[in-house]
This record gives sequence, structure tokens and C-alpha cells, in this order.
Amino acid sequence: DGAASLLDGKAAAALIDSRAQAGVEALSGPLGRAPCLAVVLVGEDPASHVYVRNKVKRTEASGMRSIEIKKPADLSEDALVAIVEDLNADPGVDGILVQMPLPDHIDSRRVIETIDPDKDVDGLTAASAGRLVQGAPGLRPCTPSGCVWLAREALGDLSGLHVVVIGRSILVGKPAGLLFLEQNCTVTLAHSRTKDLPGLCASADILVAAVGRPEMVKGEWIKPGATVLDVGINRIDAPERGEGKTRLVGDVNFEQAAQKAAFITPVPGGVGPMTIGFLLVNTVRAAAARAGLDYPA
Ligand code: NDP
Repeated sequence: DGAASLLDGKAAAALIDSRAQAGVEALSGPLGRAPCLAVVLVGEDPASHVYVRNKVKRTEASGMRSIEIKKPADLSEDALVAIVEDLNADPGVDGILVQMPLPDHIDSRRVIETIDPDKDVDGLTAASAGRLVQGAPGLRPCTPSGCVWLAREALGDLSGLHVVVIGRSILVGKPAGLLFLEQNCTVTLAHSRTKDLPGLCASADILVAAVGRPEMVKGEWIKPGATVLDVGINRIDAPERGEGKTRLVGDVNFEQAAQKAAFITPVPGGVGPMTIGFLLVNTVRAAAARAGLDYPA
């Protein structure tokens, strides 16, 4: 009866941020300095600039040191690789994030693979992905970590639950599957070649939508009482708000899904804010691990 509870990502992210802040306070003494996150931004993509501004703001609010390196879109690949190598070599830098997407003339894979895995706070290097697959300690991708956190907040122990993840990207879908597997879930990864996606989704106790198609997931796809985590961020025209206006929607038709689900994340304000929270946590973890210290709560 439209009774789905909202999973409030803003409130959860505030809690994650405060944990990171506690970690910063605990580490700054032993390290002799605050943990430090470096963000590299190439080009003028407006969404990336907004995102980086938010990262810098929350990094500083947590008490960390923030380094922001902004370069024009015509920066060469070699020059970007050299910037990352300098950050690798700088003992005062704990985390390195290169904002995606990069301009077309730059090979993103080469740039990502240049990042020292011990500073890879986005969890995107082959080394980090390998550690995740092996269940070895390492830095986990931030957005999927946020999904697991919200699911645990709603449901507690996730053992035995069927998780369907729509999307198999290196950034979101695949690591989300592996992180839910680590929680003893039974995981199905769906994608553009999946047969009978609606039928598959109807068997999901937890449905993670990470596709990038506005409101693709319909109400009939949702198992009654399911938990729905909508990762998608899509900007669509909103003529009802006036000419030329737009609004953000997820990959799930929220109105419909909220009639069937027990828990659902809104867009915006659901999974989105969690990403930066885990970025800060990862930076604290990286700082602790590099210094051979235990990660402070
Ligand atoms: P990608 O484009 O890399 O991956 C999309 C995935 O969706 C692919 O695996 C693709 O399948 C699958 N897909 C595409 N069309 C369909 C379809 N019709 N049916 C089933 N599966 C389909 O996107 P990302 O994973 O990077 O991002 C997904 C969404 O999440 C985007 O909206 C993005 O903006 C958002 N996002 C939000 C973040 C946050 O909240 N902070 C962070 C990162 C992303 P195939 O592999 O077969 O092509």
C-alpha cells in the first residue's frame, strides 16, 4: 500500500563521515599529520566539477588534508601519468582519486593502473579488484560499499538473501556483486543480454539497479517486501517544472516500486551521498595501513 520505508542516504552518509572524522582524529597523532586525499580533475565536465567540489568540502570537513589538482582538457596522457606518479611518490599523500570520465584522448585504464594500489581509494586498479575477488584486505569501491551499508542498515544480517544486481561495470555492478557475496548473499549479476529481466528481478530480496536508464525498473518487477537500492543518476527533461527545466531520476520507477518494496532508496539522497563517505573512510584506511597502524573504528 505504498508503505515502503525510505533508506535515507544523507543521514547514513553523515554517520559514515563522522566515523571517518573520528578516524582522522585517532590517526593524526601517530601519523604526525592529518590523512590526505588528492583528487585530480581533467577537463570541464560540469557534473565532475560539482562532484569534486563536494568531495573537497567533505574531505576538509572531516579534518583531512585535501589536495585538488585541476588541469585543462588538452592535458596529455603522459603528463597525467606523471602527476599520478608524483602523488604515488609523495609520502604525505594517502589517497589518490582521478575523476572519471577522462577526455577521449587519454587511456583511462593506463592512468588508473598507474595509481599505487595502497593509495587506490576508488578501488579501481586491477590489484584492488583482485584483492576483492580473493577476499584479501584492500580498498573496496565506494558506491557498492554504500549499497551494502544501506542494505545492512535496513535488514541486518544479509545471509542467504537473493541479490540481483542489474549492471556489470567495473565501477559498480561487479564489485557490488562481490561485496554482497562477502555478506553471504546469493548473487545474480544481470546485464543487457539477460533474458527475462523482469522475471529475474521478481525473485530478488535485494535489487540493485546500476544501469543508467531512467526509470527502467517497473513496479511489477519488484518482489513484495524487497529492498530496492537505486544507484542510477539520470537527468531528464522536466517540462512540468518550466521550460528547459530538468530533474534527477534513478533507474527505478520510484512511485511504482515504493508500492511493492519494504525499503527503497530515493534519487537523489539515497545511494549517491554514500559514495563520498566511503571515499573518506577508504582514505583513513589507506593512511592507517600505509603507516602499519590498526584502522581506528
Ligand atoms: P555503465 O554504463 O558502465 O554500466 C551500465 C550497465 O548496465 C552495463 O553493465 C550494461 O550491460 C547494463 N545495461 C544497460 N542497458 C541495460 C538493459 N536494458 N538491461 C539490463 N542491463 C542493462 O554504468 P555505471 O555502472 O558506471 O553506472 C550506472 C549508473 O549508476 C549510472 O546512472 C551512473 O550515473 C550511476 N552511478 C552513480 C554513482 C553514485 O551514486 N555515486 C556512482 C557511479 C555511477 P552490458 O554490460 O551488457 O552493456
